[in-house]
Amino acid sequence: MSETVLHYINGKKTSGSSTRKADVFNPALGEKTAEVVMGVAADVDAAVQAAKTAFPAWANTPPVRRARVMFKFLELVKRDKEKLAAAITSEHGKVFTDACGEVERGIEVLEFSCGMPALLKGEYSAQASTGIDNWTFRQPLGIAAGVTPFNFPVMVPMWMFPLAIAAGNCFILKPSPTDPTASLMMADLLAEAELPDGVFSVIQGDKEAVDAILENQSISAVSFVGSTPIAHYIYEKGAANGKRVQALGGAKNHMMVMPDADLDKTVDALVGSAYGSAGERCMAISVAVLVGDVADKIVPEIAERAKTLKVKNGMELDAEMGPIVTSVAHERITSMIEQGVNEGADLVVDGRSVSVPGHNQGYFMGGSLFDHVTPEMSIYQEEIFGPVLSCVRVENSAEGIELINNHRYGNGVSVFTSDGNTAREFSRQIQVGMVGVNVPIPVPMAWHGFGGWKQSLFGDLHAFGNEAVQFYTKQKSVMQRWPDSIAKGAEFVMPTAK
Ligand code: NAD
Repeated sequence: MSETVLHYINGKKTSGSSTRKADVFNPALGEKTAEVVMGVAADVDAAVQAAKTAFPAWANTPPVRRARVMFKFLELVKRDKEKLAAAITSEHGKVFTDACGEVERGIEVLEFSCGMPALLKGEYSAQASTGIDNWTFRQPLGIAAGVTPFNFPVMVPMWMFPLAIAAGNCFILKPSPTDPTASLMMADLLAEAELPDGVFSVIQGDKEAVDAILENQSISAVSFVGSTPIAHYIYEKGAANGKRVQALGGAKNHMMVMPDADLDKTVDALVGSAYGSAGERCMAISVAVLVGDVADKIVPEIAERAKTLKVKNGMELDAEMGPIVTSVAHERITSMIEQGVNEGADLVVDGRSVSVPGHNQGYFMGGSLFDHVTPEMSIYQEEIFGPVLSCVRVENSAEGIELINNHRYGNGVSVFTSDGNTAREFSRQIQVGMVGVNVPIPVPMAWHGFGGWKQSLFGDLHAFGNEAVQFYTKQKSVMQRWPDSIAKGAEFVMPTAK
């Protein structure tokens, strides 16, 4: 009998009220490895009840003591980094070394959350008026929820819950049902770090659980990361239910390559960022914008590298690319490649026929490379979310910038050049939230915050960084004076500074 991945509510693993289950697979083997319970409204209600009970004491715990729990959790995540990474690889498929990198980037946000006492410091104006002081400080919202995608089952939840919890909130995580195991490992580590029961819960599931979260009047804020149509849905429905929402969506990230770029290093950057994690990263480069005569030089080089990628079970340490996450995703990517061919793009490398010896049932494919892609093609417009790189040829940098700015997504972008002014103008003019200059995947550091523009983010505040501290707290302003400074008599005019 396969293992069942449960909810985690009020410090206990439970199947709750769920009757439905979904299968969990190891994509390298194409084998079912577990089942996951699918949450219903009663499960969300149970997590909310536990959070309501836990919230007053947790919110009242001095920030420095809340931070100490996070410090302890940080040490435990570091201790179990490889176990977490192995769980990621077995359900997602990404190579183990990359999974370790994912945990490491989650750890950085966790480290940032340990500084919460300083981040929550308020602002103070002494003598705002004679005998009156005014100060502002931030208080937790209550209960926040996070709905997360399959492609970063540890890092993306860690963009959210360490900050929400360190700021004094309770948090309910609804992970992707595709790779749910890591969520319970993190719950166990939080318990080992002595986080009080009810502060962190996990509700497994799909749309049914998410709708219950969005409709629950006791949940104040929802952080979402996933595809754009669902991000838009969460944003609308969450706002209609009076919640704060930050909803990060899909992407189509371009890398503009100037003729003066260092070609070898640019090829390395393109191959790693297009085919790493089988292209299943929201910051993966999926379009190379090749300026002037650089295309004829660089396309054969990328093709050579795409053909020789080490595609293997991600647990093999020399693997460069693992399988696609599910058979459904494999079919979607395969048919999008077919569509690209039908629309007239030049398929220079076709990764569809790649298989891995000993893994005949695994969802493998190799890297694919298209040249002469044009803006109206579906492979240019749509997010493929697989190991497919499209090359678009342009005459000059102005044309490249215009092309990128016209795309509906604006998550990440990169320019490769050795000219400072080209890089400077690109960074200023580009309509994209995260920009790399000779950096292919410009995921900002934990203290800078993460977020795209246009259809890549709905909401005002970015994930992690100072904006996340704002997102998970509300500002209170206090005006104070003491009886000795109060003049006698009622005041009927608008108070002004005296
Ligand atoms: P997804 O949108 O299918 O699912 C994301 C979450 O939403 C999951 O928890 C899922 O269970 C839930 N969900 C799915 N359908 C739903 C529905 N109809 N109603 C309510 N909830 C629903 O995304 P995915 O396939 O898990 O992840 C890949 C996508 O995530 C890609 O589009 C990728 O670009 C995006 N992504 C974006 C970022 C970012 O920071 N912008 C980061 C990682 C991934």
